[in-house]
Amino acid sequence: MKTESNADLTHFNTFAFPCDAKVLYSIDSDEDLPLLRQELRNAPCLILGGGSNFLLPEKLDCAVAHINIKGKKLVNENDRRCLLEVAAGENWHEFVQWTVSQGLWGIENLALIPGSVGAAPVQNIGAYGVELSNVIDWVEFYHLKTGEFIRLTPGECQFSYRQSIFKTELKDAAVITRVGLRLTRTPNPQLDYGPLQSFQHSDNLTPAFIAAKVAEIRQSKLPDPGVLGNAGSFFKNPIISDEHYRVIKQAFPDVIAYPQQKQWKLAAGWLIEKVNFKGLRKGAVGVHQHQALVLVHFGGGKSEQLLALAKEIQQTVQSTFGVLLEKEVRTYPFCG
Ligand SMILES: Cc1cc2nc3c(=O)[nH]c(=O)nc-3n(C[C@H](O)[C@H](O)[C@H](O)COP(=O)(O)OP(=O)(O)OC[C@H]3O[C@@H](n4cnc5c(N)ncnc54)[C@H](O)[C@@H]3O)c2cc1C
Repeated sequence: MKTESNADLTHFNTFAFPCDAKVLYSIDSDEDLPLLRQELRNAPCLILGGGSNFLLPEKLDCAVAHINIKGKKLVNENDRRCLLEVAAGENWHEFVQWTVSQGLWGIENLALIPGSVGAAPVQNIGAYGVELSNVIDWVEFYHLKTGEFIRLTPGECQFSYRQSIFKTELKDAAVITRVGLRLTRTPNPQLDYGPLQSFQHSDNLTPAFIAAKVAEIRQSKLPDPGVLGNAGSFFKNPIISDEHYRVIKQAFPDVIAYPQQKQWKLAAGWLIEKVNFKGLRKGAVGVHQHQALVLVHFGGGKSEQLLALAKEIQQTVQSTFGVLLEKEVRTYPFCG
């Protein structure tokens, strides 16, 4: 296990905000985890993957464990499914590319989501009509409190929209080490989501083709964090009651919303655009000009400026629509 004191995390977060961490542990194998537990002696520790869903403070007064465990394999295959095992430190998009290159169906719609495999179950990543929980077989983690390696079934992971047990009961206590996924060689294209619908009647669809189309669409819509600091959608799409939806619909007939059983999921980007924040710049931070759900860092700023802008957006949306925008990106304070 490599250890670095007063580590600079500027390149460990896709916002590229400067962050000075008290100590950074690099976890390269399962064997490093008991050592980490020993070092921590129950002190808080932030578990870090690719830093694409974090807003880090300028000074981080706790330990950080960067998860770098590598490896992937096909565990077994029958005529219905392939079971794959992949380690937490693998890059998510590279893993998707590997699966589609072998003709495997299941995660092609999740192409080009930044970050690591280990973080993917934490918020049950989702895009273009597919969620990771659709294909999860198990999630293995190391419990920092008990020192055990444990495997959870999808039911035990308590997955829902951008949510799992790793954000609640097991927050900061579970280091995800490996994930088991059930993929298939039988064609199963998921093309219900807007821009993908045009391929519904195409012949000879392959997972690689769909992954490439998803990547193209994403590149045309979302800013590349390598060029402009961001963490994707800053807020979740809020889910509201039918009664509340009708009130909003009456006042704003063009509201964008999708039915969810007896509730409605509102497009958070539409709410933010409606209160005139789209494209707004405040010094070094702002709201992306084409995608109001993405807050951006133009460089040379501090994360507190972005946090202040996020609060202003929340307050304005709340007072206009009576809707609380919950953050999807993890923000500080974290430790303790
Ligand atoms: C341009 C852009 C587009 C995006 N698009 C999408 C999208 O379409 N859909 C979507 O769902 N997300 C999207 N995201 C958000 C982000 O990519 C995902 O949440 C991703 O899974 C985060 O991975 P990470 O490794 O960077 O996690 P980090 O940001 O490092 O961590 C995120 C959370 O996971 C925890 N964590 C990380 N690794 C582990 C581990 N091994 N064990 C336990 N906990 C861990 C952290 O403590 C933290 O709470 C986007 C982000 C960007 C920048």
